[in-house]
Amino acid sequence: MTNLRGEIVIDLEQRFDVLVVGGGNAALCAAIAARRAGASVLVVEAASKFYRGGNTRHTRNMRCAHDSATAVLTGPYREEEFWDDLLRITGGQTDEELSRHMIHQSKDMLNWIVQQGVRFQPSLGGTLSLGRTNSFFLGGGRAMLNALYRTAEGLGVKILYGAEVTEIEIDHGVFQSALFKQEGGTNRVHAKTLVAASGGFEANTEWLRESWGDIAENFLIRGTPNNRGTVLKMLMENDVQTIGDPTQCHAVAIDARAPKFDGGIITRLDCVVFGIVVNKHAQRFYDEGEDVWPKRYAIWGRLVAAQPGQIANIVFDASSLKLFMPSLFPPVKADTIAELAVKLSLDPQIFEKTVNDFNAAVRPGTFDHTTLDDCRTEGLSPAKTHWARRIETAPFYAYPVRPGITFTYLGTRVNKEAHLIMKGDQPAANMFAAGEIMAGNILGRGYAAGIGMTIGSVFGRIAGQGAAHYACQ
Ligand SMILES: Cc1cc2nc3c(=O)[nH]c(=O)nc-3n(C[C@H](O)[C@H](O)[C@H](O)COP(=O)(O)OP(=O)(O)OC[C@H]3O[C@@H](n4cnc5c(N)ncnc54)[C@H](O)[C@@H]3O)c2cc1C
Repeated sequence: MTNLRGEIVIDLEQRFDVLVVGGGNAALCAAIAARRAGASVLVVEAASKFYRGGNTRHTRNMRCAHDSATAVLTGPYREEEFWDDLLRITGGQTDEELSRHMIHQSKDMLNWIVQQGVRFQPSLGGTLSLGRTNSFFLGGGRAMLNALYRTAEGLGVKILYGAEVTEIEIDHGVFQSALFKQEGGTNRVHAKTLVAASGGFEANTEWLRESWGDIAENFLIRGTPNNRGTVLKMLMENDVQTIGDPTQCHAVAIDARAPKFDGGIITRLDCVVFGIVVNKHAQRFYDEGEDVWPKRYAIWGRLVAAQPGQIANIVFDASSLKLFMPSLFPPVKADTIAELAVKLSLDPQIFEKTVNDFNAAVRPGTFDHTTLDDCRTEGLSPAKTHWARRIETAPFYAYPVRPGITFTYLGTRVNKEAHLIMKGDQPAANMFAAGEIMAGNILGRGYAAGIGMTIGSVFGRIAGQGAAHYACQ
């Protein structure tokens, strides 16, 4: 049945088998899996149809284990190597049983996701070096989502847009119903099971302030403004166990001119290695040549967050301009270092001294930005240990950067079946979670490119199947 606008009318008197809160990758994988297992499914998405899909809209790839090369992956990436990578990047702060389970399940995900209409392409060349480990979505995250939505709708999954869940009713650890706001009104929906796939709380500045203090005001959020942690907080208030540190998140340096929300991938800057990075006092504060991507990429968000005013500038000269992928915004350009200082509101004398000191400390070497080369400084603190070249060829350039928060790690504790774990350690019978909202089980800290989508896909599918099984038994 449709209304006068041609939209499908959803009967909210019906008690659904599975209620999925959220509209990103985790939610859609859960919804499709539940529906394929025979359940009636309602997806409640806070965003409008145009903006549906949360942070998933911005993604490009996912990391899955595989034993041999595929049509789009250049070689094997076995479970043990994936596990080693995860162990290294988290420094051991991961639930081993859950992570190994996710990695094992990820092997099947490459096929399953294709069966849901998603298409992959080989990775592009460049600085990413992910051609063996990560499968890239043809058309990016938005195309990937469109395919999942098309499949879900085709299977009969009901979807409500512009519908923000504001209350969850849980009785003695058993989910009953949820209230959501839509077009100025409040509605209640009953369901036999709940799948919470509503992202982290990165877009909730007040919550970020609780652990980061006032500096949180200066953070830019790379993705959706809808991931405010509303559902996470309600689950926490209903005796669901949490996992993770509230200050741990994925954060990168992004162009300071990016919008507060949803700037996406095109505002990210990965040119730190080509110059120096100075804070608002025109001082360097970290080794810009410490390591290759992806390690360096995920540390600069936190480094800039620790600087006064949460602002810094990546400074380089004409010799580096064409060596990296540009961002959406053009760099600030000047013919002299003094003029660049004025344009960046830096003290010209201090800035010139910082550049001169750096130039004087650079030792000769063979520049190669694809390896840890021998171009380094001597007698400078902090040192630049690789890719150090004098900043001396006009014009001079700079990108102002701020911390760009991708997603937060504090979340709900789950077991291998994606059941929420309650305070007494028992799994909730009819409540499940998938995606960012439970990412802290896998990521205590650190990040490996493409793992956000692995967490959402694997646990989304498990949650959907588990919810359908419970509801339909
Ligand atoms: C710029 C950018 C690039 C990224 N690139 C990659 C990449 O290439 N590979 C990768 O693996 N990861 C990447 N990530 C991380 C990745 O986006 C996430 O890990 C993944 O999309 C999480 O999926 P999810 O379904 O859990 O959350 P989301 O996709 O964020 O979905 C959460 C959904 O919940 C909805 N929601 C929130 N609150 C409510 C509520 N109260 N009621 C109803 N709905 C609600 C939101 O509207 C949204 O639809 C990137 C993130 C960003 C921001």
